[in-house]
Amino acid sequence: VGRPGVILDRDGTLIDFHRDPELGVVTPAFHPRHVRLLPGVLEGLSVLRDAGFVLGVATNQPDAAKGRVSVAVIESVNAALLDRLAAAGIAIAAVETCLHHPDPGPDGDPELGVGCACRKPLPGMLDAIVRRLDLDRRRSWMIGDTATDVRAAHAASLRSALLWALGRCEICPLVDGPAFGDHRPALTAPRFDALARAIVAAS
Ligand SMILES: [Mg+2]
Ligand SMILES: [Zn+2]
Repeated sequence: VGRPGVILDRDGTLIDFHRDPELGVVTPAFHPRHVRLLPGVLEGLSVLRDAGFVLGVATNQPDAAKGRVSVAVIESVNAALLDRLAAAGIAIAAVETCLHHPDPGPDGDPELGVGCACRKPLPGMLDAIVRRLDLDRRRSWMIGDTATDVRAAHAASLRSALLWALGRCEICPLVDGPAFGDHRPALTAPRFDALARAIVAAS
C-alpha cells in the first residue's frame, strides 16, 4: 500500500553550497540568488518523476539556531529552489525543514536551540513526509550526500542512495572517503542523474 517516493536532501544534493572567495568560506545558500542546481539534478528528477516517484525534500537547516541567518532566509532559499524546479516541470510534493540544533549559537533563536526528533539522522522529517504523501516505505528512497542522510533513511525504513565521489565537495564529511559504519548506502553514484537511473533500475 502507498506510493513510491523519493525524499531528497537539499544542500550538496539538489543545490550547491555558496562559496565566498573573498572570505574563503563555504556555506549553505543564504539568498535566493545563490540557488544553483548541481549537475544532473534536473535530468535525474525528471527520470524519477517519469518513473512514478512522488518527490519530497527533507533538510537540516541549523543556521537560524546558530544565529547566522534568519528563518525567513532559509525559507526564501527553499522557495527559490521549488520555483526553479517547478519552472522545469518538477513538482515537490512536501518539504520538511529541521530548524533545530542542540548546540545553538549565542545569537541564535533560543526556541530553535534544542534537541528534536526531526534533525537527521533521526527519522522525524522522513516519517512526516511518508505519512503526508502516503508513501510505501519498501518502495521509497532517500537521496543525500552524507552518512547522516543514509542513517536517516535506514531509521525511517527507506532505501538509501548516496551521492558520493572523492573530492566531490570540500565540506562534505565524506570528502576523504566513505565511512559508513553499519549504514552502507544501497546505491552510490557521483552525479544525481546517474543515481536516479540506478534507483529506477533497482526498483
Ligand atoms: Mg547535504
Ligand atoms: Zn528538528
